[in-house]
Amino acid sequence: MTALGDLMREPSPSGRFGEYGGRFVPESLVPACQELERAFRLAWADPSFRGELDHLLRTYGGRPTPVTECHRLSEELGLRILLKREDLNHTGSHKLNNVIGQALLARRMGKSRLVAETGAGQHGVATATAAALFGMECTVYMGAVDVARQELNVFRMNLLGATVRPVESGSKTLKDAINETLRDWVATVETTHYCLGSVMGPHPYPFLVRELQRVVGEEARSQCRQVLGDADPDIVVACVGGGSNAAGTFAGFVDSGARLVGVEAAGGAAMGHGIPGVVHGMRSKFLQDEEGQILEAESISAGLDYPGIGPEHAQLGDAGRAEYGQASDEEVLAAFRLLARTEGILPALEPCHGLAWIVREAGRSIPRGSAVLLTMSGRGDKDVALVLEHSR
Ligand SMILES: *Cc1c(COP(=O)(O)O)cnc(C)c1O
Repeated sequence: MTALGDLMREPSPSGRFGEYGGRFVPESLVPACQELERAFRLAWADPSFRGELDHLLRTYGGRPTPVTECHRLSEELGLRILLKREDLNHTGSHKLNNVIGQALLARRMGKSRLVAETGAGQHGVATATAAALFGMECTVYMGAVDVARQELNVFRMNLLGATVRPVESGSKTLKDAINETLRDWVATVETTHYCLGSVMGPHPYPFLVRELQRVVGEEARSQCRQVLGDADPDIVVACVGGGSNAAGTFAGFVDSGARLVGVEAAGGAAMGHGIPGVVHGMRSKFLQDEEGQILEAESISAGLDYPGIGPEHAQLGDAGRAEYGQASDEEVLAAFRLLARTEGILPALEPCHGLAWIVREAGRSIPRGSAVLLTMSGRGDKDVALVLEHSR
């Protein structure tokens, strides 16, 4: 098992995080993954690349995002709650950190086209945004079922100049969209970069996306120190779909004394109920039936409906450095209302999973008076209609 001090650094040369990760792709994609890894490592060590990324995230994206201390919510829970405000990014979530970085990398590799998978459409909209900003062509694969469910996001992507391809295979949802995007990439790799949306897929994506999201945790660490008088939070909480906002957050705190907690949707808990397997180019934990068929994740929040989890989370969980809780749809809706009423913030339903876990554990596994940081991964405008539906 990996020593605690080695966690969240480098994967092995073959892209392993302990027994998870790796690169399980068709022969024809191996060179593309290798080219991407080489390009990323060079770019990441290049001050001019880092400078341009920083500049864009500031002047276009709105970074640094603040840390907000929640006085009324804290009083209600008997804790000290701080929020890392990724909801204040352009396009309303942490996803912009990843897509701006990957688009910049694609341009550096001489690629003129982005392809992406999307579930509910949030990563598709973010990728279409970055493609518009860089004048790149953009194709987004989306399960036909999701296309029908998320009409507005399809229209947003069209407005941004992207082509949305409905995927009719399998269950016509996110997991099928990922397979189609990989297929497109195999055929077009000369001109095309696959802009993958979370810390998943074949090496180097889990590593690359974690590094691009690291800014969340690093900013939060120093901002928390200002609020807490040079101390770190006692507990750091983030919601987990594929796991990118959590990985970026944890990367800033893995060498601190903070308890790290990822919170999954109860209906999509790959850490809670998953079985190790190889899917979408990586070895990780997935919801599967007895025959090894991948199950559909079910959650009120479309952003947490991936039936697997990034491989590094599987490693962090096994090593005991991070723990993974769950929240039910009802708890999530209650947390949404609580934050709106006490702090004037309408949160996305995804980070409400983290808040719901904090509410449940306050005074139980979280001692009274603890300082708790929650990454507010996105804003709630997209979910207001859904909350309304559940209010009737
Ligand atoms: C996409 C999304 C998530 C889930 O993705 P991760 O890779 O697990 O971070 C969480 N919150 C919001 C607001 C999202 O848009």
